[in-house]
Amino acid sequence: MRTGTLGPGVQYAFADRHDGVSVAPYDLGNLGDHVGDDPVAVATNRARLAGAVGVGSDRLAAMSPVHGADVVLVAAAGTAPAADALVTISPGVALLVLAADCVPVLLADAAAGVVAVVHAGWRGVRADVTGAALERMRELGARPQRTLAVVGPAICGRCYPVDRERFDAVVAVAPRAAAVAAAGGPALDLRLAVLERLEREGVGVSLVGGCTAQSPDWFSYRRDGVTGRHGGVVVLRGAP
Ligand SMILES: [Zn+2]
Repeated sequence: MRTGTLGPGVQYAFADRHDGVSVAPYDLGNLGDHVGDDPVAVATNRARLAGAVGVGSDRLAAMSPVHGADVVLVAAAGTAPAADALVTISPGVALLVLAADCVPVLLADAAAGVVAVVHAGWRGVRADVTGAALERMRELGARPQRTLAVVGPAICGRCYPVDRERFDAVVAVAPRAAAVAAAGGPALDLRLAVLERLEREGVGVSLVGGCTAQSPDWFSYRRDGVTGRHGGVVVLRGAP
């Protein structure tokens, strides 16, 4: 578990797959409630993650990813809107993002009191969900140059071969995603693309983890099929 701050009053935590009580194939720290794991184990794992930022699991706000670029403003915990980016200005609402190869991002402008999370797969990178989240944050008073991000683990270019059509579709809008697979052929490095997108706006980025498919510390859908989800949480502190 990595924990820290993204500026004064903003706490985050990012859990790896060792942080929990789930059993195989979801061992140990699965946070996904839609993958077939025991709900009691998932609740325990989520409570552990919430506790790492000082809130109860009833303060979590999750998302139901649809691989789009919509950004939902969340005012209360306990919901799971169909979107790949959530933003809040409400203290105590802990935004949760899950992944198992896609790119999970935590964002905060502490001075503006705005936090967000983003889930970016190839469709999300193509639709620029990261840019959409930054724009929504800006509308709420945030400035990218003052914003800090944590970018979690994701499948790397060597491990993510794709067909030429998908490669072309993504690279047309995110050139930094262009990669070569370990076995040769077109591949995508979505985390590099997200990093480039954030840095282009002046966001300060730190990384958690490396390649999900190569490390036993993370869940990888591509590697394992039926598996869990790791994830991170970010919260503005200051309310009950
Ligand atoms: Zn890899």
